[in-house]
Amino acid sequence: MLDNSLCSICELGNVKEIVKEKTFKYKGQEHTVENYKVFKCEVCKESIVDKETVKRSIKEKIDFHREVDVLLKPNEIKEIRVKQGFTQEEFSKILKVAKKTFARYENGRVAQSRSMDELLRSINKIPNILLALIRGEDIPQELLGLIERIFITFKEIDFLDIEQEFLKESKKNDLDDGVYGKIYDFKPKPNYIISDLESRVG
Ligand SMILES: [Zn+2]
Repeated sequence: MLDNSLCSICELGNVKEIVKEKTFKYKGQEHTVENYKVFKCEVCKESIVDKETVKRSIKEKIDFHREVDVLLKPNEIKEIRVKQGFTQEEFSKILKVAKKTFARYENGRVAQSRSMDELLRSINKIPNILLALIRGEDIPQELLGLIERIFITFKEIDFLDIEQEFLKESKKNDLDDGVYGKIYDFKPKPNYIISDLESRVG
């Protein structure tokens, strides 16, 4: 739409371009979108928001809500997935969300729920869970459910190999950073996990 073009609602008046600021409020905080462009009809008085402004405002609003709610940022979500060695498709199956939904978490078009955020943060702790399991340490209560949900699906894969590798490395390195590095390098076999998850998750 352009300044002075015919109003698409009443088709009687011409629209006038107005550039202003728009403030969104959420949980007692405010965020202002600059350069908020609308086209106001001088006859029916309807305001039509510019397409580019709509797109930009939606993104800013999601970012604002995410910030207020202290949720993981899109790039942080991607980092967690990549660190665990999964594709978006594999990871979305583990999280039990549609592939499209997960892709939207990573590109910032949708903000994840609080419970999804907590799950992602927990998954990020998996290397430590693995270490704890191997060392026979007590697992924190809040992470037990997560192990049930995700880690057990890895169990039959290369877990024994990893354990042997770990013991070999731990003797060599006395549990230094090298060992953590090894565990970060752990790449589950995707096909196995997918079919395994499907049989468990349904
Ligand atoms: Zn009009």
